[in-house]
Amino acid sequence: MILVLKKGISEKEFDAIIHRIEELKLKPHISRGEERTIVGIVGDSRTKELERWEELPGVEEVIRILKPFKLASREFRKENSVIEIADGVRIGGKEVVVIAGPCSVESEEQILTAAKEVKKYGAKILRGGAFKPRTSPYSFQGLKERGLELLKLAKEETGLPVITEALSIAQLEKVSEVADIIQIGARNMQNFALLEAAGKMKKPVLLKRGMMATMEELLMSAEYILSNGNPNVILCERGIRTFEKYTRNTLDISAIPMLKSLSHLPVIADPSHGTGKRHLVIPVSLASVAAGADGLMVEVHPQPEKALSDGAQSLTPEMFGSLMEQVKKVAEAIGREIA
Ligand code: PEP
Ligand code: MN
Repeated sequence: MILVLKKGISEKEFDAIIHRIEELKLKPHISRGEERTIVGIVGDSRTKELERWEELPGVEEVIRILKPFKLASREFRKENSVIEIADGVRIGGKEVVVIAGPCSVESEEQILTAAKEVKKYGAKILRGGAFKPRTSPYSFQGLKERGLELLKLAKEETGLPVITEALSIAQLEKVSEVADIIQIGARNMQNFALLEAAGKMKKPVLLKRGMMATMEELLMSAEYILSNGNPNVILCERGIRTFEKYTRNTLDISAIPMLKSLSHLPVIADPSHGTGKRHLVIPVSLASVAAGADGLMVEVHPQPEKALSDGAQSLTPEMFGSLMEQVKKVAEAIGREIA
């Protein structure tokens, strides 16, 4: 349920509304738009429905959101959410932000080389997994804490903000000390305890679509983070599992404009995991930006053939340079810019 407040509402009226919401053991979520202030009310639906919200002074309109996700919905917020990542780096605005780097942090030399190369070609955020979710327990699991230290070093050397994944609640604190964005991976999209814990933090969270998840399920997972108090959520389309075998996943291009119409949250695309094949990454990146993606996350490795994970889908730095040149033209063609 959302309350649209009157334009000239007094502070006293506003406080009384918030007080009433809290008195009923419900949670207010305030969104100050350009025109109007909106208060989202979440909590027990019976208590919410019984209250005569229309009668509270200062309330202009009561909108009952029929969708199962509330705070993530366009009804709750008409304007696009723009998430502040670091000084001058924002996701969700006019600029399309490119995140690049290796699948995993493998060594000091590897991550520093990758970071310098992607920065040279225009990436604004460095990616690199320290804790890796691998299908087989015998595959490389990441350098873990050492990986985080190396990411910190790469951040200091290049000035690039970093994104890295937390696999569990226990890793959240450690990861957030280094990361500017906490990644919650496809396999954890419905780890509700992890989502709640990330919701209690303020750090931006990149939430990846589960490989078998519908868009509605992705938005419900985002709702877990938002309803726990963290408004800084970025959605990521990374491909879903279909019957097709030539590609690793089927990147759902239509999910980009669909999610953007259902939600105010930024949407980025991951054409690396979305295709699994290096030669498909550039064309699918271009298509994603054309479809309205607010950013791309691309795997780049100084020597893909030697990568400890996801080498087949990793671009060489030179290919990444070519991607950046091409994607610039697509962004311009639809009235956007590459950050
Ligand atoms: C990744 O980004 O390295 C990753 C493991 O992605 P996903 O969770 O989408 O599989
Ligand atoms: Mn990967």
